[in-house]
Amino acid sequence: MKISAPKGTRDILPAEVARWRHAEQVFAQVCALHGYEEIRIPTFEATELFQRGVGDTTDIVQKEMYTFEDKGGRSMTLRPEGTAGVVRSYIENGMGSLPSPVRLFYNITAFRYENVQKGRYREFHQLGAEAFGSNGPLVDAELIGMLALYFERMGIQDAKLRVNSIGCPVCRAKYNQLLQAYFEPHIQGMCEDCRGRIGRNPLRILDCKVERDHALAADAPRLLDHLCADCQTHFDGLLRALVAQGTEYTIDNGIVRGLDYYTRTVFEFVSASFQSLGGTICGGGRYDGLVEEIGGAPTPGVGFAMGLERLLLELEARDIVLPDTPPMDLYLAPMGDMAATYAASLVARLRRAGVRAETDLCGRSLKAQLKFAGKRGVRFAAVIGDSELSTGQVKLRRMRDGTEESVSLSELETDATARMAAFGD
Ligand SMILES: [Zn+2]
Ligand SMILES: [Zn+2]
Repeated sequence: MKISAPKGTRDILPAEVARWRHAEQVFAQVCALHGYEEIRIPTFEATELFQRGVGDTTDIVQKEMYTFEDKGGRSMTLRPEGTAGVVRSYIENGMGSLPSPVRLFYNITAFRYENVQKGRYREFHQLGAEAFGSNGPLVDAELIGMLALYFERMGIQDAKLRVNSIGCPVCRAKYNQLLQAYFEPHIQGMCEDCRGRIGRNPLRILDCKVERDHALAADAPRLLDHLCADCQTHFDGLLRALVAQGTEYTIDNGIVRGLDYYTRTVFEFVSASFQSLGGTICGGGRYDGLVEEIGGAPTPGVGFAMGLERLLLELEARDIVLPDTPPMDLYLAPMGDMAATYAASLVARLRRAGVRAETDLCGRSLKAQLKFAGKRGVRFAAVIGDSELSTGQVKLRRMRDGTEESVSLSELETDATARMAAFGD
């Protein structure tokens, strides 16, 4: 019986890996420029962590988690996102005693049982960052600026920042009453999700994608008009800091984010041409109540996460050049046993010197070896037989067009990279 990859998972094949690495490495570099350090967290956690940390009312927890009982009878869940696990680690490892803010980034796979579509998988990759221990808006602005630089370095020139404040529990409780009063007369005609949300979390109605509900939400009271004094000061400070660091923004009352734990700052980067993402490249926000919710001391935090699958798809769709896996530099094609022994020794020395070199592993004829080198897309090949061994001279062949240059074996060994560079591709 043929075994296939499970629905919603995919293999990232060698031809694609270079662009994945590029996206991940640029992210790590940009994070490092901002003082963020990498953290690696477990793939599965106690289910309760996500119930508390992602929120019982969210689609993620209600519908999408991969939950299983382990052999010890404990309920475990494959992480559906990264933040809860990072917060758990922050608490468990006493990071609250480190100098604030504690700034962490991660690069993880996450798991959600979702409808599979182009660019949306059940096992997917996320890049994300979190900063703990600072109430002020400067850390929010820095985090947002870090993302802006990432998009710039990835060649995404038209990423536009939208920011909003969803207030704190105090001003949001009052605002929720206003929202309930606004939606109540219309609720019978609204979608099932919204009918459930109006009692539990009316703010999320503003996020509804159903067209009629969306239109209703456009005229709803704006939380920005009802922020308490502290939240207003925070939001004003964020906008000032964004201006100071040169990050352009627009204010968007419709951004509420899907997760329950956000407070104050919420933001998204959008691009009209990122179609498969519904225009949203990445989003995040502040979550001042989360660390306490998960069992730590009250600690403010802010973060974001970004799906890598769709980001890469969109980059490719827009002809943004991403690196390909580079071809091998040099293929040594030996003829005869003595030459094969010599080639095996030379290829080892070349690799030690940093040359991407290979030689015959399968006892192929010379013709078959050169065909193999051609199929592999190797840049250069050199045939080594008895006469090459005795004269110490080989022909370096540029595979693209078959042009040859004479090179001494000793020069090839000590200076292959320079010789190949001078020869050109
Ligand atoms: Zn407030
Ligand atoms: Zn709705």
